[in-house]
Amino acid sequence: MDQNVFQFLEVERVDPQKRSLEVRRSSFAEIYRSFQDQQMQMQANRCLGCGNPYCEWRCPVHNYIPDWLKLAGEGRIFEAAELCHLTNSLPEVCGRVCPQDRLCEGACTLHDEFGAVTIGAVEKYLVDTAFAMGWRPDLSGVVTSGRSVAVIGAGPAGLGCADVLVRNGIRPVVYDRYPEIGGLLTFGIPDFKLDKGIMKLRRQIFTAMGIEFRLGVEVGHDIGIADLLAEHDALFIGTGCYRPIRGGLTNESADGVHEALPYLVGSICHERGYPYEQARFVSMQGKRVLVLGGGDTAMDCLRTAIRQGATRVRCAYRRDERNMPGSAREVNNARDEGVEFLFNLQPLGIEIDGDGRVIGVRVVHTELGPPDASGRRRPVPLAGSEQLLEADAVIVAFGFSPEPIPWLETLGVGVDERGRIKTGGRFAGQTDHRQIFAGGDAVRGSDLVVTAIAEGRQAAVGIIEFLDI
Ligand code: FAD
Ligand code: SF4
Repeated sequence: MDQNVFQFLEVERVDPQKRSLEVRRSSFAEIYRSFQDQQMQMQANRCLGCGNPYCEWRCPVHNYIPDWLKLAGEGRIFEAAELCHLTNSLPEVCGRVCPQDRLCEGACTLHDEFGAVTIGAVEKYLVDTAFAMGWRPDLSGVVTSGRSVAVIGAGPAGLGCADVLVRNGIRPVVYDRYPEIGGLLTFGIPDFKLDKGIMKLRRQIFTAMGIEFRLGVEVGHDIGIADLLAEHDALFIGTGCYRPIRGGLTNESADGVHEALPYLVGSICHERGYPYEQARFVSMQGKRVLVLGGGDTAMDCLRTAIRQGATRVRCAYRRDERNMPGSAREVNNARDEGVEFLFNLQPLGIEIDGDGRVIGVRVVHTELGPPDASGRRRPVPLAGSEQLLEADAVIVAFGFSPEPIPWLETLGVGVDERGRIKTGGRFAGQTDHRQIFAGGDAVRGSDLVVTAIAEGRQAAVGIIEFLDI
């Protein structure tokens, strides 16, 4: 059947329905419902099928977007799922958590005037549906090479690497210190954005494909790097980026001040009952909560505090809304759920009472000056504009930088001035040690799920070329 190229004029962009605000404020369930079959086809068929699709260029894994939208629009779900998996190792995850407004959908030709095609929601629908209908990746034609690679880190980078390796006949053995796979997808991003059942199903699928997981194993502590090099033909490092950036505020370790990631991990493990003994649950019930920072991590903390029953949840950010680093969609979701945003406020110090408990944060108003190294305008404090924001709990979410990895440095693997692993070798993702490859946040610094997947996949191609398979 010929496609109606004017569908975008006749059918408006529609996003999947969200759960009611009342439910969202007290439940950790994913907020977006799925498309209905017919609704998904109507939305997929809005695609113009551009000859030179900007969406594909802007997507970090260069998904064949117009091609699988066409298949989805024709109801050919298995073929569409197959095509999605040619370029992306976790398409159902990206459909949920990519900041599409900044990536594929932001580049859609229809974006400004007619509303972009709902690329992310269709991607999620068609992979979820294919899995529910029993579709699984077919590796029956893969010839095994007898080679194996140790993948350190079961986050998006490690999983992306393992996926490409196993499809090319190399046995990946994935090590992670956590009891489940996913990295920050499981121990970071809350269920209301990404249900943890998604990664459980992925673990089954990857295991059936031939990826071996050795979980609850910390490399450098439970097993040495020399043992891994002896057992495997090459190594991939996808250990992420976990050292919290400090604000240099007074009383930063006072009672009632929390670091963002341990707070989120404590909440997830509490909700899900994961046996991770380092997780510490903190409830914000009945408290006035102030979150410092404006990225994805800050949004997740704010929305977790709302769901835990905090009485007031505020976000203080030193730039304006336009200059926030995270996804605009998630800022809007947080606002709808009751978060108050306070822009152009820079924290100066944490105030405490006589018992050492936090009572609030002293802030100063800012205006935006010239751009800094990140290209965003630098906040400049306005003299005499200080004020105290009262709070019973403060969560610090200023981002992360890579932590030093001593066992890697002893092998001569170089890092840059910000502690990121250097990968300038002859093959994609190759470090200063010829057998060791790396990718994801450990190489880029804190970034996105989809860029970590892209780097893991590219490094796998580098490993395959290095092993001359
Ligand atoms: P990680 O996901 O961090 O995985 C690294 C893995 O390595 C972990 O499982 C860790 O346990 C393991 N590891 C580390 N050291 C060792 C060791 N020595 N031995 C064994 N295992 C080890 N991105 C988006 O695109 N959209 C979002 O909505 C979004 N929200 C976010 C919310 C939060 C709270 C945070 C913190 C980040 C968010 N991000 C988001 C960013 C995204 O999660 C990361 O960029 C991505 O997960 C990086 O993938 P990675 O595989 O490089 O590292
Ligand atoms: Fe868009 Fe992310 Fe899917 Fe690429 S992977 S098409 S950027 S949602």
